[in-house]
Amino acid sequence: MNIILLGPPGAGKGTQAKILQERYHVGQIATGDMLRGEVKAGTELGKIAKSVMEAGELVSDDLIINMLRNRLAQDDCRHGFILDGFPRTVPQAEALDAMLAAEKQDLRAVILLKVDEDVLVERIAGRFTCAQCGTGYHDSMHPTAKAGVCDKCGSTEFTRRPDDNPVTVKQRFTAYNRQTAPIVPYYQGRHIYYEVDGMADMDDVTVAIEAALRAAGIPAPVAMSAD
Ligand code: AMP
Repeated sequence: MNIILLGPPGAGKGTQAKILQERYHVGQIATGDMLRGEVKAGTELGKIAKSVMEAGELVSDDLIINMLRNRLAQDDCRHGFILDGFPRTVPQAEALDAMLAAEKQDLRAVILLKVDEDVLVERIAGRFTCAQCGTGYHDSMHPTAKAGVCDKCGSTEFTRRPDDNPVTVKQRFTAYNRQTAPIVPYYQGRHIYYEVDGMADMDDVTVAIEAALRAAGIPAPVAMSAD
């Protein structure tokens, strides 16, 4: 299954993509995470991306498309992928269609998480991530069960994204509305396009996404045992 999660910064794409990855056993591709990895590793791409990301703007289509092409060739994407943060421009959407066509693959679902932009700033400002396992949390909406300790791996180290500050967030919304929102009509006319209420509780959003996936002909994952 090849699916895309769309939505503005803070819509919950990353959270939902991680849940779906575990449940459906397909590769999660978050271009923002990949770029942060490049920045951390100090690669050429990372050096170029760093200032662009800090400004809340978009990295050039050429660089991103190239990075994605290499990522799609990796093993964990053999049975499909969940894209989170890509495409972000119409040329990226067109390039993805071309890459999939070349591999005789297709997109199974494009799901837009619809959200109210006013509350997104609060969502973004409070979020933090476990530095060890990458589990995402939020100061008020989804804190760790025990303060300062990751629920999943027990680590006590957490990180906050440098671009999650009010000034950069504003610029990221501007970039979304100017460059990314136009890809909604690119997909809207296709029978694979779905909209989900991204303002609902996290679990309800997952349920709604799974309903959309079922409607797209992607069967629900086999239930896991409770323990
Ligand atoms: P994200 O983690 O998806 O919010 O992405 C963080 C930042 O990485 C964005 O604000 C952009 O600067 C950059 N970025 C991530 N994905 C893309 C993309 N598909 N095209 C251009 N820039 C991107």
